[in-house]
Amino acid sequence: MRLYNTLSRKKKEFKSIKDGEVGIYYCGMTLQEAPHVGHMRAALTSDILNRYLRYLGFKVKLVVNFTDIDDKVLLKAKEEKRDFREVTSYYEEEYRKASNVLNILRPSFYPRATQHIKEIIELIEKLLDKDFGYEVDGNVFFRVRSFKPYGKLSGKKLDDLRSGARIAVDKKKKDPLDFALWKAAKPGEPYWFSPWGKGRPGWHIECSAMAIHHLGETIDIHGGGGDLMFPHHENEVAQSEAATGKKFANYWVHNAMLNIKGEKMSKSLQNFIPINELYEEFNSNTIRLYLLQAHYRKQLNYNRDMLKQASSGWEHIKVFLDRTKGLEGKPIGSYLEGFEGNMNDDLGTPGAIALAFDLVSRGNEASPDEKGAYRETLLFILDSLGFRVEEEESIKLGEVLERILALRGSLREEGNYKMADRVRAVLLKAGIAVEDTKEGTSWRAD
Ligand SMILES: [Zn+2]
Repeated sequence: MRLYNTLSRKKKEFKSIKDGEVGIYYCGMTLQEAPHVGHMRAALTSDILNRYLRYLGFKVKLVVNFTDIDDKVLLKAKEEKRDFREVTSYYEEEYRKASNVLNILRPSFYPRATQHIKEIIELIEKLLDKDFGYEVDGNVFFRVRSFKPYGKLSGKKLDDLRSGARIAVDKKKKDPLDFALWKAAKPGEPYWFSPWGKGRPGWHIECSAMAIHHLGETIDIHGGGGDLMFPHHENEVAQSEAATGKKFANYWVHNAMLNIKGEKMSKSLQNFIPINELYEEFNSNTIRLYLLQAHYRKQLNYNRDMLKQASSGWEHIKVFLDRTKGLEGKPIGSYLEGFEGNMNDDLGTPGAIALAFDLVSRGNEASPDEKGAYRETLLFILDSLGFRVEEEESIKLGEVLERILALRGSLREEGNYKMADRVRAVLLKAGIAVEDTKEGTSWRAD
């Protein structure tokens, strides 16, 4: 598989450090808001990377972190008048639920920054020992100038950054480019004990510490949203490589942003669509289809019409699958090769999905004894891309039944027990047992 590497700005054949194993660290979300579609685009990119590497036979260790302590989290806790731990637990749960609905494979670890304070402190101590950092009044800063390759990931030059940098807001810094590794606690803020007094970690150091702890000093792939490339990922590279003397990540993968009216979807711009809102209208396969029809490195504009198109696109696929139910056949080799060809080219999901639609149109035209082969091939591709075909069918059955039972309920309310009993008898013939109790009506499929 060829993978685009932000570090070299080139697509290159992917090679893992250990044979047959891959370690991936993907920056997750800050637990201060409900997950929106932009967050799910990042989650889905890591999911496709995870799934396709597994498809190729790799054993994948995927780590997706949660930032559960920082200025934004504390601000949110203050607004909601709740403990920051309550706030972060709540949003973590929301994120996990949203990921389940979207059929995101659970990562190997979901570490939180506050679970790794020990590793964070050790890493900062290492940096201080090597003189890459300095302490001022209980704060520790990274000395950016001391790390010569600074800027190699984002392509920024130190001198340009310097002339562009505003006058240091924080007078404690020796250079405005320096960034915080450890922050002294202000009164009333949560804190941990450290060699520099009570405080909490800076944002960037947590990812270096968690990545190194879970995946080692050099990791195969580090990913995240493109908006994190600078300064977050640049600072991660600087801290990690300064501390270990080793290359931090062999490949850097960045997913492009999800824009809305030309701007990045984000809480700060107040233009985000919570994923739960979308789930009310569109099913998870539709949302997956909508997001995967754009290549992960291409900006995608949030667009309701495109979502509706994806919805009818998915219906189209479903109709074909329903019509060909029970048919079997041998998967068609040329399509499987086409699928791999697309995916091997930097996770070309748009091409892979185009093949799925092609299978549907050709399958519709195919003779009855050929249809099974199209069906099998389509199912294989959909499954490899993480669509949930079977489960959707059982959800649908549930929905239909609930409606029939509601109808039967109103018959009973009207006193039309004869008709209500007939509905029950018909359902029983179809293998669905309906039972009326004081608490209401329940059903069970045999
Ligand atoms: Zn990060």
